[in-house]
Amino acid sequence: MSEIHKFLFEGLPVRGVLVRLTDAWTEVLARRAANTMHGAYPPPVQNLLGEMTAAAVLMQSNIKFDGALVLQIFGDGPVKLAVVEVQPDFGLRATATVNAAIDATASLSQMVNVGNAGRCAITLDPQNRQPGQQPYQGVVPLFGDAREKLEKLSDVLQHYMLQSEQLDTTLVLAANQQVAAGLLIQRLPMLGSGNLAGAQTANEDQIGINEHYNRIALLAATLQREELLTLDAEAILHRLFWEEDLRRFEPLQGAGGPHFSCTCSRERVSKMLIGLGQDEAQSILQERGLIEVGCDFCSQQYRFDAVDVSHMFRQTDQTPPASTAVQ
Ligand SMILES: [Zn+2]
Repeated sequence: MSEIHKFLFEGLPVRGVLVRLTDAWTEVLARRAANTMHGAYPPPVQNLLGEMTAAAVLMQSNIKFDGALVLQIFGDGPVKLAVVEVQPDFGLRATATVNAAIDATASLSQMVNVGNAGRCAITLDPQNRQPGQQPYQGVVPLFGDAREKLEKLSDVLQHYMLQSEQLDTTLVLAANQQVAAGLLIQRLPMLGSGNLAGAQTANEDQIGINEHYNRIALLAATLQREELLTLDAEAILHRLFWEEDLRRFEPLQGAGGPHFSCTCSRERVSKMLIGLGQDEAQSILQERGLIEVGCDFCSQQYRFDAVDVSHMFRQTDQTPPASTAVQ
């Protein structure tokens, strides 16, 4: 079962989340493998998308935000795009666009950062976005301070967290064909009580506090990929933090936990086609006799014949056209 475990270090400004995705992740892969147009992902892409999925669930569970969290990599190599969306109820979907053959041992940069122009974007899209309201988006490159290519997604995201949230974060991520998992450890800002020295310096280096975070982050960083993939949450937390005073929260699993869910629908695809315009839709119809649109996330096929299309555009005579956002 896919699950999220949150915990605090008692009395210390450090919190953590452990995510383990099984059914929610294998569903992503199974739908892709069943897609006759694309076929299954090459193993390195599968691992990258799995790590992204675990990371997106970690980030969604770590923020107080009512909306979708979208983690994207815009690649400059054979993987042009990789996308994961996680809804507030932890419904998730993921997809990657692969344009060329990928070696079984391909590194992160060989997939998405060949010319050091790859980018990683995190978007927070509010649930009930008002017209004209823009979603919040942060973008980071796939290189470090000396423009050296980063080969671990966790390094890219740690960089993002430090930049955008000004919070020290340690991430460990791993994925294979059965499991996508991740561990996040974060130093909490110390505001309010016990902060008589002044609010401005509240989140600056505070030796005593950083000591705790540094110790816990070092422990977290000893977690091996194999352990993260094969051990259950109890075993991982015990192995890493048995000397710490951990306060655990009720795990999120089952209906309230991470699960595969696609937000596509026939209605949304219709809106996208209406956005294309009647001339374009008619020309596809004339050429192929049918408009077929497949969802990249869940592989659902939507088909529209001449009757559907004329009905679609007759309805829009009364309503203004919708935007051409993805279905
Ligand atoms: Zn779909």
